[in-house]
Parts: sequence; structure tokens; C-alpha cells
Amino acid sequence: MTQVINGKEIAGQIREELRHKVMKWKAEGIEITLAVVQVGNDAASGIYVRNKKKACEDIGIHSLSCQLPEETKEQELLNLIDSLNSRQDVNGILVQLPLPGHISEEKVLDRISPLKDVDGFHPRNVGAMCIGKTGFVSCTPAGIIELLKRSNIEIAGKECVVIGRSNIVGKPMALLMLRENATVTIAHSKTKNLKEVAGRADILIVAAGRPKMITSDYVKEGAVVIDVGIHRDENNKLCGDVDYYNVASRCSAITPVPGGVGPMTIAMLMYNCVESISL
Ligand code: NAD
Repeated sequence: MTQVINGKEIAGQIREELRHKVMKWKAEGIEITLAVVQVGNDAASGIYVRNKKKACEDIGIHSLSCQLPEETKEQELLNLIDSLNSRQDVNGILVQLPLPGHISEEKVLDRISPLKDVDGFHPRNVGAMCIGKTGFVSCTPAGIIELLKRSNIEIAGKECVVIGRSNIVGKPMALLMLRENATVTIAHSKTKNLKEVAGRADILIVAAGRPKMITSDYVKEGAVVIDVGIHRDENNKLCGDVDYYNVASRCSAITPVPGGVGPMTIAMLMYNCVESISL
């Protein structure tokens, strides 16, 4: 029978563990603060920011709201980052993406102190992850590793295919699977014979950003399938990159959308905030 990996439940466990840690530190007079920076009024960003602040509140992390108008100049934002970097009472800094077109995201993300970069996007943290040093790890891939481990899915020695090579999901995902001793292939938009490549996977991780692209003919019988995609289908219902109902019966385990990878991303952001105390 197919195991449906319950990301909501596993994220809940992680948040509970973090709540205890935060409570213990609070009792010792240590408080964690996450600065959440949003530029402009993008509706989707507004929802993400609200959810992140709610998650902070839920586990006892203080969130500091920095809401800037759409017309904010790049230099003004960089000045704000500088001041948050130097504040002793701020442990983590999160800049909600996308930024308005006149601001360079790369410049802004590179300006965040690597010691406060709870999204794990700073080149120093990416480099640290590559060579197995301590640092913040990008939240979605880190969450997928937790999903696999807490679902008792063995990674070492398994054939893993990651579809997608973005800097925030595909690449770090592949590196983390390698760190867990999987044999890793990265597939992308220029990969030839994707069905054949994907069909080799014991663990198939899909982050292509293409709704319901993966059907059962991409999946080996008994594979574990992790779906990172989030989309609205023709009926306005949430769906992933995997055609769940077509694929599920072929898998040994699969993540649903919603309720799979999604809840893990915020849980791992909270994990990184808590870790920021010890970095
Ligand atoms: P992206 O668009 O930056 O990258 C997509 C990658 O998929 C690219 O590297 C591209 O080469 C590859 N790709 C595209 N079409 C392909 C095809 N036909 N065959 C093979 N490879 C193909 O996207 P991203 O930021 O990595 O996100 C991927 C998906 O995951 C999106 O749906 C996004 O919304 C979702 N996402 C979810 C979470 C979460 O918390 N659940 C977090 C981040 C992203």
C-alpha cells in the first residue's frame, strides 16, 4: 500500500520540538527575533509574510515587521539590511521575494549577514552546504530531507533523481541528497529522455514548476515521489508537479499537494531561526 507522507503532521512535530527549545531559552532570558522585510504590497507575498509571522508567534519567536513602500530605493533597503545586520537583538533576517523590479535581489540577499541568513540563500551558506560545513540550509530542500528521515525512508545508496536545478530548490536538494549518500542525478529542461532518467529513480524529487507534468510513465514501480510544485489547476484546486492520482498507486510513498512539502518549508524556516542562536 502507498504511504502518503503527511507533511502537515511532520511539520507540526518539528514546530512542537522548537516551541520547547524556545520556551527553555526564554526561561533563561534569551529571546529570538526574526526581522521580516517586505517591499511593496504584492498580495501573494503578503500572505506568505503573514504565515511566517504567525508561525513565529506560534513557537514563541518575536517577529519584527519591516514593511516598506513599493517605491523604496535599492540603497534605502541596503541601509535597512545593514542596520538589521548590526542589531544585537535581531537573530534572523528574511527579505520576502520577489522584490520590485528596480531593486537587485542578488545585491540585497548578498548583503544579509551570513550569520542571520535564515533563508540560506547567501553564497557563503550555499558554499558551506556544498562542502559539508555548518551554516543555514535552504528551507524547502532541508524540509524534504526531514520528511524522508522522519518517514523512515532510507536515502543512503538509493538512486535519486531531482527534476529542476533552481538555486533555491533543485541544486541544494541534489547536494543534500548527496550529503545523505544517495547516488544523485539532476534533470532539467534540457535533459533528453526525461522519462527514462526519472524512471531510474528510487527517490524522485520533482521541482520543475510544471503542473501535473509527472505521470505514471515517469515513475518506477515502488519509487518514493516527492512533489515540490504548487499550482492551481483548471478547477482552481491546489496541485503539484506530479499528477497525484495517476502516480500514487505506483509509488511506495508519495507527498500530496497540499499537505506535503509546503508545510515543511515554514517549519524549517523556524528551525533556522532557532539555530541562529548557536551560529
Ligand atoms: P524554477 O522555475 O526556478 O525552476 C524550475 C526548474 O525546473 C528549472 O531548473 C528547469 O530547468 C526545470 N524544468 C522546467 N521545465 C522542465 C521540464 N519540462 N523538464 C525538466 N525540467 C524542467 O522553480 P523553483 O523555484 O525551483 O520551484 C519549482 C516548483 O516548486 C514551483 O512550482 C514552485 O512554486 C514550487 N516551490 C514550492 C515550495 C514549497 O514550499 N512547497 C518552495 C519553493 C518552490
